[in-house]
Amino acid sequence: MTSPVLDRFLRYVRYDTRSDDGAPSSPSTPGQLVFQRDLVAELHAIGLADADVDANGYVMATVPATTRKTAVPVIGFIAHVDTSPEMSGTGVTPIVHARYDGRDLVLPDDPTAVLRLADIPALADQMGHDIVTASGTTLLGADDKAGVAEIVTAAEYLVSHPDVPHGVVRLAFTPDEEIGRGANHFDVARFGCHCAYTLDGGGRGEVESESFSADLMTVTFYGFNTHPGYAKGTMVNAIKIAADFVHRLPVGRLSPESTDGHDGFVHPYTQQSGVDRTIVKLIVRDFDTAGLADKESLVAALAREAAAAHPGARVDISVEEQYRNMRVVLDRHPEIVEYANEAVRRSGLTVVTRSIRGGTDGSRLSFMGLPTPNLFAGEHNFHSRLEWVSRQDMENAVEVIVALCRIWEERVAL
Ligand SMILES: [Zn+2]
Repeated sequence: MTSPVLDRFLRYVRYDTRSDDGAPSSPSTPGQLVFQRDLVAELHAIGLADADVDANGYVMATVPATTRKTAVPVIGFIAHVDTSPEMSGTGVTPIVHARYDGRDLVLPDDPTAVLRLADIPALADQMGHDIVTASGTTLLGADDKAGVAEIVTAAEYLVSHPDVPHGVVRLAFTPDEEIGRGANHFDVARFGCHCAYTLDGGGRGEVESESFSADLMTVTFYGFNTHPGYAKGTMVNAIKIAADFVHRLPVGRLSPESTDGHDGFVHPYTQQSGVDRTIVKLIVRDFDTAGLADKESLVAALAREAAAAHPGARVDISVEEQYRNMRVVLDRHPEIVEYANEAVRRSGLTVVTRSIRGGTDGSRLSFMGLPTPNLFAGEHNFHSRLEWVSRQDMENAVEVIVALCRIWEERVAL
């Protein structure tokens, strides 16, 4: 049995497209550009004449409209080509485990790497399906090459079925999502869409229309350094003040370790220490943007208390916006998510509405003028050597994309 989306996926994962936080260029690694150029050639081959890659490594292409209606909004589909730098992506060897029946899936290059039904509840929904994994020493890269393969396959389907009515459909493949830069050089005006959908989610049927709102806080404590042999009465140690501050942060609440669902948190994640000056960086997360301000006031008050407890110390506090809950934007255009839900149902699946305890490129794009919820791509265990995806979930995602294109056309009178 042939499966165009599976064949593409197996081809794409062999490209090493890990992004690199330490490289300032866009894309951050040459491997991404190699893949992007080959993608452009493939898009040309399936008939998307305008496909190109821009100077920053972003690929865009157009599926021309088939409908006679002139008022159908242009919609877009987006996936990222990079894979996580946290796990090797060199020499990925995909393995298709046909007709999964609950057995242990042992990955041959490292027999300790085993996908067990008992450990991975999502496998229970995959009986009879073909599961793709890597070979045990690398990630698979379903995040997000599953999304890339699904979008290209849907585009190919639309091009070869001109009887399917749809408006103009745009595609974009972005670099460096995993290092938080996927939206940095995204040319929203050039993309020219009313809205878009990222294909970068998990289990089949998922529609994600809400993400965290996110800020970064930098708390800098200033002490006074002098020779420790002669420091009596003069030294003020910023490391100790910072420790005092961290100790004052709430325990058992408002932390990543103690929250889930809709609760936000504050999280010190890195510290640069010196007697003279110690910098503590914290991320602040909440679904409600007003909730961010409450948490930031609390953190600021605790930092000032810690500084005040050490005479001679001083503290500086700054807050930077990272991204905002996309729901604020999507609530103004309810049809964007409604049509996605309808497309999932029309493909015979159950809609699973999820809130992302993090951000996506869509969180930033939504505020750059391109409302962009996230749809399932079938990714599981991402950033891990136990990463997997099923052929059937990818095929479902292709159907959902095609259904969405039809629905946007149907809902317009002329
Ligand atoms: Zn992803």
